[in-house]
Amino acid sequence: MSASTPASDGTTRPDGTTYPVALTEQEWRERLTDQEYYVLREAGTEPPWVGEYTDAKATGVYTCRACGYELFRSDTKFDSHCGWPSFFAPLAGDRVLYLEDRSLGQIRTEVRCAACGGHLGHVFEGEGFPTPTDQRYCINSLSVRLVEDSGA
Ligand SMILES: [Zn+2]
Repeated sequence: MSASTPASDGTTRPDGTTYPVALTEQEWRERLTDQEYYVLREAGTEPPWVGEYTDAKATGVYTCRACGYELFRSDTKFDSHCGWPSFFAPLAGDRVLYLEDRSLGQIRTEVRCAACGGHLGHVFEGEGFPTPTDQRYCINSLSVRLVEDSGA
């Protein structure tokens, strides 16, 4: 076996370290629904326009549906009209990890939860959206759960 880059098999980070939240495939299957498992653990994509958070406006924090890690604030969510929830920045830079995704015959940047490695979606930039970063984190509703602010 020659040395190679760590496989993005969901248990090892791109830098070779292990995710803090590491469950077995069986444990993930028990914790997640079939649809959630398909998106979060198999890097699937939910159909556009059907996700529960596509047009959500409520304020709060979007957490990883697999492990609960806080990923995005609602005030970075914007209307991209792409059919999926879109954010222009993560809650903090270390909340997500980036992997090169060469599927579909193009190079895209996959976004994963930094705590458990769950697939969130992809990030695109330079599309001209009037946001502070000109980035679009295109995130599956099934990958996140909105924890709404209370009292405010
Ligand atoms: Zn997670």
